[in-house]
Amino acid sequence: MKRQKSSKKSVYLDHNATTYARGEVVSAMEPYFMEKFANPSSLHFLGRENREAVERARKEVASFINADEREIIFTSGGTESSNLAIRGALRTLERPLNECHIITSTIEHPAVQNTFISLEQDGVSLDRVECDRFGVVKIDMLEDLIRSETVLVSIMTANNETGIIQPLEEIASRLSGRGIILHSDAVQCIGKVDVDVEILGVDLLSMSAHKFYGPKGTGALYKRKGISLKAVYTGAAHEFSLRPGTENVPAIVGLGKACNISRSMLSGEIDRIGRLRDRMEKILLRKIPEVDIIGKNSARVPNTSSIIVPGVDGEAIVLNLSALGFCISSGSACSSGESGTSAVMKAMGLEPELAKSVIRVSLGIRNTESDIESFAEALAGVVKRLREISPSK
Ligand code: PLP
Repeated sequence: MKRQKSSKKSVYLDHNATTYARGEVVSAMEPYFMEKFANPSSLHFLGRENREAVERARKEVASFINADEREIIFTSGGTESSNLAIRGALRTLERPLNECHIITSTIEHPAVQNTFISLEQDGVSLDRVECDRFGVVKIDMLEDLIRSETVLVSIMTANNETGIIQPLEEIASRLSGRGIILHSDAVQCIGKVDVDVEILGVDLLSMSAHKFYGPKGTGALYKRKGISLKAVYTGAAHEFSLRPGTENVPAIVGLGKACNISRSMLSGEIDRIGRLRDRMEKILLRKIPEVDIIGKNSARVPNTSSIIVPGVDGEAIVLNLSALGFCISSGSACSSGESGTSAVMKAMGLEPELAKSVIRVSLGIRNTESDIESFAEALAGVVKRLREISPSK
């Protein structure tokens, strides 16, 4: 049967959920599937070729975030990196879990949030620092929560739903000299703003390739020299004995390439995307009554817009726009399929009714002026229609 090609034009505005891989990334990966397929641990020349590719990628990732290559551990993505960081750090401590105190925030991604819930069940004592109404964690509160048993603080670099950037540098400086490990989930920051681990002052940092035009299912953990971790999985001695399992060479090569390209193109691309996002927000504020932008006065990653559309259900907007060819998200699409009120919106003090009316638009490198204009037009139409049929009208 002949396959019909879809004639529907699509506009993808959901880059915080995932990005496509750049063409150069796919080209760099390709040889490692069929020609250069050997195991990097093999001693023969084909194995060595793969080992060199892995180590080249390690250097590319390291230099992208101003780290040393020996500080990079390849993983299967952001979720695994954070698990390894948090659980791996606790495993090195010579004290039982019920004598460990950890501080995190109320706005973390489930990758971190649920790791802590699980550790709490195992006896760890946990405090969650709140964020203010601008979506920024309260640093003074964080400092007040520190006690002598505090071993780890984990605060994300930028939030996946709002794009709001957290004050990591300031947090690192407040923790300085206290022997507390600082982890940050930087999955939504890498490739969107400059991330320099020396400037941020973090000890552990999680990243994921599929959020910045690399392949899915691969990522890395930055581990500062001198910080001890113990592997979470048991197995062979791969990745400095911290992450056993044969390396996913094509994906690692793709991650390295994504870092390399982002490094050379970051400021130009990011400036353009930031201007596009700001223009889109201006149009929406003008075109759609009562619309508001979450965190408009906070530092945000330049591609993300979290929009409140009072009186309309966010999921209804997503589905109606999808029928018109536009891909956006309501709340966090990383855990898509999950409905209910977003924990992040709740943490920011948004009333449940308003929290349900939030949509997330996240731009990427292929988006154009025409994309945002047609999106604004479509959104205005959908909102008007949904408001007209709303029972609460
Ligand atoms: N952390 C944040 C902030 C995210 O947005 C995501 C998105 O999926 C993750 C972690 C999980 O990353 P991964 O899909 O690579 O496991």
